[in-house]
Amino acid sequence: MIDRDRCLALDAADPLRAFREEFVLPEGVIYLVGNSLGALPRRAADRVRRAVEQEWGGQLVGGWNQAGWYDQPLALGDRIAPLIGAGPGEVVVGNSTSIAIYQAVAAALRLRPDRRVIVSDARNFPTDHYVVQGLAGLLGGYEIRDAAEGRFDDAAVVLLSEVDYRTGARADVPAVTARAHEAGALMVWDLCHSVGAMPVDVSAADFAVGCTYKYLNAGPGAPAFLYVSPRHHATAENVLQGWHGHAAPFAFETGYRPAEGIRRFAVGTPHVLSSAALDAALEIWERVPMDLLRAKSMALTSLFVDLVGDLLELVSPADAEARGSQVSLRHPDGYPVMRALIDRGVHGDFRAPDILRFGFAPLYIRYVDVHDAAATLREVLDKELWRDERYAQRLAVT
Ligand SMILES: *Cc1c(COP(=O)(O)O)cnc(C)c1O
Repeated sequence: MIDRDRCLALDAADPLRAFREEFVLPEGVIYLVGNSLGALPRRAADRVRRAVEQEWGGQLVGGWNQAGWYDQPLALGDRIAPLIGAGPGEVVVGNSTSIAIYQAVAAALRLRPDRRVIVSDARNFPTDHYVVQGLAGLLGGYEIRDAAEGRFDDAAVVLLSEVDYRTGARADVPAVTARAHEAGALMVWDLCHSVGAMPVDVSAADFAVGCTYKYLNAGPGAPAFLYVSPRHHATAENVLQGWHGHAAPFAFETGYRPAEGIRRFAVGTPHVLSSAALDAALEIWERVPMDLLRAKSMALTSLFVDLVGDLLELVSPADAEARGSQVSLRHPDGYPVMRALIDRGVHGDFRAPDILRFGFAPLYIRYVDVHDAAATLREVLDKELWRDERYAQRLAVT
């Protein structure tokens, strides 16, 4: 079995090792939750301070023009585009992923007015499913079909995640997109657990959404993004008609006229301060070779599986190619096990009813971190340290 010295040697030879210096990582913490909230980029703290003190404090309302606040949703979208296989003018930033899902699915339904089936994965992240249920309830007459049935026929839209948040299983995006199109459906991809974790290409899809606070490291409350294929720019409608999606927001007209292109999917005032953190986080991504990122991600998750695979049932796919950048393990007392790990500096998270999740953000997680996390997990289980009654009490956020 691979030992600690070998892991240190792998870190020394890692072509991505310098990226770790870009992040603030507390002493004594092995942070394996970058798939839930990415670590703080050092430059984000400086950038947010500048946005607050110089832009807001110094320019006041003039910041909309002088600091480019007004153009942020499209300018930031253009910088996310290369990470998802999109081009300029195809991605808009704003709101939350839940709202972007609502916009994408509603627009898809309006593009397929003769169809009444929405295919969604009941095991998907619940917000995706809740949004679809709400939309179907509002419109009436729609059937929500579970993707597990495997039938796309008659579907207006298929909504799936590229990487499953619970198991880390990775979907075959080109194959599934092609299948949806063959069935006459439109394809919406949720990229929350794949963007920033691996090379992504949704250029064949119709819509895609994702958050920026997970692997992209833009911070808590950072805005989401929405991709709309240029095929649909002239015809797709934004059901959330707000003034920032209007053709002339500052004409203050009474009637809604959609803007041209991706801008029509903007809704209201952009999230200026959290966009400042996203701006800084994206400066890092401009320098990341995504093929090396994926290679390291697969090496990290494979190492963890090798080190702990004998201890617990592996919920994630055994083949690294079929995984995202996370490893999920099953334990009937998963909650106290995770609390015991966190108490010892190894931060993962727990997903009900029995899953321990470990995310490996390749920009700042080292091979030695994987080694040490595995050793701590082994100790917690071997010595049954999780049985301490302190770990049984549930906190509000797991
Ligand atoms: C994290 C996540 C979301 C988050 O939605 P928000 O509205 O941004 O809170 C949505 N979908 C998936 C698959 C996720 O993993």
